[in-house]
Amino acid sequence: MAYEIDYIPVGEGEKGGDAIALRFGNLTGPRTEQTVIVIDGGTKESGETLVNHIKTYYGTEIVDVVFCTHPDADHASGLTVVLEKLNVTTLAMHRPWEHAEDIKKHFVNGRITSSGLSDKLEKALQHASDLEAIAKKKGVQIVEPFQGVTGFNDALHVLGPSKEYYQGLLAHFRSTPEPVAALGFLAPAVRAIETVAKKIQDFIHIDLLDDDTDSTSAENNSSAIVFLNIDGHKILFTGDAGKTALHLAADYADTKGIVLTGLNLLDVPHHGSKRNMSSKVLKRINGVIASISAPQNSDKHPSKKVINGLKKYGALVYVTKNMTLCHPHLAPTRQGWGPAVQEPFHDYVEE
Ligand SMILES: [Zn+2]
Repeated sequence: MAYEIDYIPVGEGEKGGDAIALRFGNLTGPRTEQTVIVIDGGTKESGETLVNHIKTYYGTEIVDVVFCTHPDADHASGLTVVLEKLNVTTLAMHRPWEHAEDIKKHFVNGRITSSGLSDKLEKALQHASDLEAIAKKKGVQIVEPFQGVTGFNDALHVLGPSKEYYQGLLAHFRSTPEPVAALGFLAPAVRAIETVAKKIQDFIHIDLLDDDTDSTSAENNSSAIVFLNIDGHKILFTGDAGKTALHLAADYADTKGIVLTGLNLLDVPHHGSKRNMSSKVLKRINGVIASISAPQNSDKHPSKKVINGLKKYGALVYVTKNMTLCHPHLAPTRQGWGPAVQEPFHDYVEE
C-alpha cells in the first residue's frame, strides 16, 4: 500500500511548530480508497499552507481525522484553519475541561469546583477550545486520543497517553492552580532555563544522550503518540512528548507486541529538542528515517546531539527548515520536487 507523509514548514527562528499531512491507500485510485490524516496544524499561516497542500497534492477537501496532539499554540492554532476550510470527519483531541471532575482532588484549594476548574482550563487553552467550538458548529465528531484507541482496520493505534497519565499531567498544566503535591511518576520536573551551551566534540561510538531525566512541560508530555502500520510499514508520530511519555508509550507497545525499533519513519519529538530524547528512549524507539519539524536558523531545534543520537541508531535524519518535506512510498511523483538533503553527523554539539 502506498503512502505519502508531508511535513509543512512552520515559523522561523526559535518559533517553530508541527503541521503534518499524510495519506495512504490506493493513491492513484479514487478518494474512497484513500485515508487522509492531519497531525497538528502549526500556526494560522501553516494551517493555510496545509489546506492548500491537501487540495493540490491529495486532490481532496475531505480529511478523515485531524489530530491535535496537545493544546500548545504551535501545534493547535493552524488546525482552526483546517477545520474551517476542509471537511473533517473526526477531530482527535483531548478536552482538558472534561476531566475537571476527576482531577479537582489534586488541588490545594479545597474550594475549587469542577465547573470553576473547567472554565479556567477552557479559557487558558484557547486554541483547543476554539477547535472544539468549530468542530461542534460543523458537526465534526470528537474523540479523545487516549492509549488503546485504534482506527482504519487497526492501521492506526494511539500508544499514549493513557487517561490516567493524562489526568495526572493536567494538574500540572500552566493554566491549572497549584497541585497538592508531586503526583508520583506523573509529575514533570521543573522547566530548566535553556542556556547558550558551549560546544563539545562528539564521536559515533560515545553516548552524549545518557540523561534520562524529564524536563519537558506537562503539556508536551500530554501529546498524543500515534502509531501507523501501513502494510507492515511502521510510522510513529510523537508530537512534543517527553521522555516519560515516550517510555510509557513504549511500555504499552510492548504489551501489544508493537515493535518501535527500526521504524520506517520516526517523527522526532518536540522539534528535535534534547530535553525530549535520551539514549534509553532511543534504544526502545528508533527509525531508519527520522523526520524533524524545525525552522531554519534555530539554535535550539533540532539539537545536534539529538541528530547525532538518531544517526548512531542508524537513522537518516531530515529537517523541514523552510521547505515541505515529503516521505513517499510508492507514491505518484511530483513535478518540480527534488531530493531532500539529510543532516550530517555533527562533529561538535552543544554541551
Ligand atoms: Zn511544539
